[in-house]
Amino acid sequence: MKITEVRTRVVEWRGETVPPQPHFCTNPIDLLDLPTDSMDSFRFYGWLILEIFTDTGHVGIGNAALSPRITKQVIDLYLKPLLIGKDPLDTEFLWQHMYRQTMAFGRKGIGMVAISAVDIALWDILGKVTSQPVFKLLGGRTKQQIPVYASRLYSQDLSELAAEARQYKEQGYRAMKLRFGWGPLDGAAGMQRNIALVRTVREAIGYEIDLMADAYMGWTLDYARRMLPLLQPFQLRWLEEPVIADDIHGYAALKALGGIPIAGGEHEFTIYGFRDLLQTKAVDYIQFDTNRVGGITQARKITAMAEAFSVPVIPHAGQMHNFHIVMSSLNCPMAEYFPVVDVEIGNELFWYIFAGEPKANNGYVDLRDDLPGLGLSIRENELSQFAVIE
Ligand SMILES: [Mg+2]
Repeated sequence: MKITEVRTRVVEWRGETVPPQPHFCTNPIDLLDLPTDSMDSFRFYGWLILEIFTDTGHVGIGNAALSPRITKQVIDLYLKPLLIGKDPLDTEFLWQHMYRQTMAFGRKGIGMVAISAVDIALWDILGKVTSQPVFKLLGGRTKQQIPVYASRLYSQDLSELAAEARQYKEQGYRAMKLRFGWGPLDGAAGMQRNIALVRTVREAIGYEIDLMADAYMGWTLDYARRMLPLLQPFQLRWLEEPVIADDIHGYAALKALGGIPIAGGEHEFTIYGFRDLLQTKAVDYIQFDTNRVGGITQARKITAMAEAFSVPVIPHAGQMHNFHIVMSSLNCPMAEYFPVVDVEIGNELFWYIFAGEPKANNGYVDLRDDLPGLGLSIRENELSQFAVIE
């Protein structure tokens, strides 16, 4: 079996978008006090669609969401030439080839995102060739269904925030996550506004539902240290990305305080990055995204390594490439789930690009046993709402 073609397309949303409210989510730019809208760096409206064609007619589908135009260039210029003519079932060999070929400029970030997209497509082919869903190839079901948490609750008017939280509770979710709106430059007043967000959601849903909160790297260690005691009464299941991804020791310092479990890893890469997070006791929960971390070939290894450290993996974003890992790993108790909404941030765009993503029902998603591969197809007819860059 041979790879005959690798096709990359970047699709950029051209339809309507919902304008986000000010302070809807902290992010790393906030520390700079720029005159422009700091939310700009948080929104992204592009996605990479990857297809790998084979001489047997099987087509693997992969995707990437981070910096898709440059990711496309990495695949087209550096990965495609080494893939053409190779056996797509040689997933481990091809991963090592891509990784070592791009070592000088790759390793983390865009280079690894590109490798991830290819690796996901190769696993899709592996499933299709063997007529098995990918989770079966990874070990089968470790749970009847996948518990998912509603991931939204951006900082907004408090009565609207409470209404959104109640809606998720009514829909059957047993866990949900909110976003903080304020960071260090907003001072003590911003801290109180952050606490008001958490208190509002807690009062809306009670204490029999897990609540998590995400700072999306918008805080500093000092600020997080001051926030932690204020947050403690609200029994958060975790505090997510309180500091930037490079500040591993900041994560470890917060975890050592022991007040609130610390989660992170959606901006970390490969077994080497997660070895360091685990060895430094930096996180209580690992949140890699399979389409960044190095594809399924890396995700399964990291999940196994984390199991030995008794650190659960709850991947970023949901999406099929993560759900198959969660289904087949006892060390993955839950998955993130972005509800289907009008286009706002950009992280909901996969709903508009791919068909086959499972919808949450009563707080769970399920995977089909009769769909080979990852179970996705491309909504070609709906791509007219996007600019398509071949
Ligand atoms: Mg996150």
